[in-house]
Amino acid sequence: MYGRYLVNFDSSEIEHVETEILSIGGGIAGLYTAWQSARAGFDVMLLTKRTISDTNTDRAQGGIAAAIGESDSPELHYKDTIAAGAGLCDEAAVRILVTEGTDRVQELIDIGANFDYYGEKLAMTKEGAHSKRRILHAHGDATGAEISRVLLEQVKMFDNATIFEQHFVVDLLVKENECCGVLVFDESTGNYRIFWAKAVILATGGAGRVYNYTTNPTVATGDGIAMAYRAGAEVMDVEFVQFHPTTLVLPGVPRFLISEAVRGEGAVLRNSRGERFMPSYHGMAELAPRDIVARAILSEMAKTGENCVYLDLTHLNADRIRERFPTITKTCLKYGLDIAKDLIPVAPAAHYIMGGVKTNIDGETSIKHLYACGENACLAVHGANRLASNSLLDGLVFGKRIVELLKKQKRLKKELEVKKTRFVCEELVDAACDFSSIESELKVVMNENVGPLRTSQRLMQALSFFDRQECLRKYKARNSKEMEVQNMLEVGRLIAEAAMMRTESRGGHFRLDFPETVLRWKKHIILRK
Ligand SMILES: Cc1cc2nc3c(=O)[nH]c(=O)nc-3n(C[C@H](O)[C@H](O)[C@H](O)COP(=O)(O)OP(=O)(O)OC[C@H]3O[C@@H](n4cnc5c(N)ncnc54)[C@H](O)[C@@H]3O)c2cc1C
Repeated sequence: MYGRYLVNFDSSEIEHVETEILSIGGGIAGLYTAWQSARAGFDVMLLTKRTISDTNTDRAQGGIAAAIGESDSPELHYKDTIAAGAGLCDEAAVRILVTEGTDRVQELIDIGANFDYYGEKLAMTKEGAHSKRRILHAHGDATGAEISRVLLEQVKMFDNATIFEQHFVVDLLVKENECCGVLVFDESTGNYRIFWAKAVILATGGAGRVYNYTTNPTVATGDGIAMAYRAGAEVMDVEFVQFHPTTLVLPGVPRFLISEAVRGEGAVLRNSRGERFMPSYHGMAELAPRDIVARAILSEMAKTGENCVYLDLTHLNADRIRERFPTITKTCLKYGLDIAKDLIPVAPAAHYIMGGVKTNIDGETSIKHLYACGENACLAVHGANRLASNSLLDGLVFGKRIVELLKKQKRLKKELEVKKTRFVCEELVDAACDFSSIESELKVVMNENVGPLRTSQRLMQALSFFDRQECLRKYKARNSKEMEVQNMLEVGRLIAEAAMMRTESRGGHFRLDFPETVLRWKKHIILRK
């Protein structure tokens, strides 16, 4: 059957490695599960397709949400998360996120995460749709890098944890609905290897790179979602893609995120006529939920005929702003913009996928011994729209629960053998295909047709593009770049299919032809091969 694997292989002819737990991904979810597994005494291997710092996590600016402020409570955090999720949050999952989240953040502090302080107290900022200041941040706007740093430090302390960089996971090895390992392409040697494991944790992050305009780094190609889907796992809510309202728009410059925390500190949005417009769209003005701000910006852009609107910080204290946002200040300066004095041109871009591999509250997927956490997982904790800064927290909270579950499982006992069976694929055709131009076309198709404003006509165009690419399934991917393009085609098609099915507007999914939120659509779309 074409489309099950990306390459031809025979597991009996490939070098084998064996471990108890395999964490796939070097972001917050992969690092945290590797650390917790090692602490629990398991042999754990962490695989990442590039270097360990090449992650979405490393770029996270705004911070991590936790209800630890004096006037705050998990109950308020719960209410805000549920409200942003537009009717599709799993209430039990949100309850866990906001209650266990405070312990997870405290744990980061305990292992030495240098969050910013304001005097004696932890500094906390506000972001869109939060009713309280509850976002902890580090080095101003470099929170993700700081969290990665401490977690990596912890993982490295354990002899029973090994990190493999440049190890591209190609496919999951699943027999009779049981996952027993993965097929890996070792970029440094050019060889394939099989990693057998008693438990496989998918933590491969998001899929922003399926879009032309995105805040995500090049690793975010949706590999985990695609490989799990190919292996028969259930995938849920993928039509819900969050478009971040404010990314830097300059000719020839990749879309750089201007954190929501900038608006949290008082920046306002103006159209090209200089008019502040957000108060006329929503009571929370610039701090309305992200989907509302993104659509308001698109509407202003359409009215004025410009390709951006502007973030205005000129009324704020210049020194304070430069100190609070050093990364944003430095990046903008590189392009000749002083954030304290100049208006910053911004527009929405793909940022986060709320959907992913369906899990329960303990990270179990529909395939036995396959777990998922972080951005590639979906247990509806973010519903149809993620509340800002809940994503780093999600990786920690549900990563922890996976390891806690594994600790209880007999399967991980030392005396039990890793299950090894022979896996073979030999039907794929070895021929040159122009994957690079297909990738470029895919990104444009996704941007134009499956972006923040969707219609059935646009989605039809996207789906007919994907139909035309179906024949590619019979070709063998010859390198990891081609594997990524195959994965992006898989995920892009899933997003478009689910977006076509959902004939309503809700959270991150907006249909111009079905602008209302409809009660009968208060349900999840689950896709399975
Ligand atoms: C610019 C930016 C700013 C953000 N700011 C915030 C914020 O302030 N607060 C917040 O909560 N969230 C923020 N987010 C979202 C958040 O950073 C991510 O959702 C979160 O970091 C995802 O973590 P993760 O561990 O799931 O994945 P990632 O951090 O993306 O890590 C994925 C890992 O998987 C690896 N991988 C992928 N495919 C394969 C494969 N085939 N084989 C092997 N390895 C693979 C990658 O190499 C990488 O190591 C931001 C995102 C971006 C892009």
